[in-house]
Amino acid sequence: MSPPLEIADGLQLSDAHRALLRPGELVTGTDGHAHRLPRFFYVVESWQQARDTRLTAHFTLSELMSVDCREAPLLLREFPHYVPCAVSILARYLEEFRERAGAPVMVAVNGGYRSPAHRFSAPGSLHLWATAADLYRVGDTLLDDAKSIDRYARLAAAIGQEVRVKPSGHGPGETDDHLHFDLGYVTLASRSLDET
Ligand SMILES: [Zn+2]
Repeated sequence: MSPPLEIADGLQLSDAHRALLRPGELVTGTDGHAHRLPRFFYVVESWQQARDTRLTAHFTLSELMSVDCREAPLLLREFPHYVPCAVSILARYLEEFRERAGAPVMVAVNGGYRSPAHRFSAPGSLHLWATAADLYRVGDTLLDDAKSIDRYARLAAAIGQEVRVKPSGHGPGETDDHLHFDLGYVTLASRSLDET
């Protein structure tokens, strides 16, 4: 069990961080529905701490927050990093998926949490809530064709009502080089911070 991470109220962060993370703000997704962005974040002091923080037996925090240069420089290069607390719930579901698949599950770079400032972030994308993961490999199987994607999509969807997967295909809302797995707009509040 890794030591507990500090939790920050996004509304108390610096102006620069609030402008990028937009804690608690309403955003309207491409489907026209409005949702409130996460407000409470784990405070991550270094990549070493992220690698050392085991959210479940097989998933570290670092795997679910790795992004490349498409992320805003302040969020990419400077610490602390802030990751919505619901990431720990995502890890729990990925652990169950791994168990059902009977093989290691690989999350793509940019395939876990992305901030609203990330250049791949569509408004309303579940990656902004840290409740979505893009999986590119399960065991030896690369998820880059319809057969593999659909096979593992069925396995993921069988976990429960709250799990959604995107179908394989080349159109909007479909994937052809990974499996998108999400839990919907789940947020986690801190026990010790006010929501007022
Ligand atoms: Zn995705």
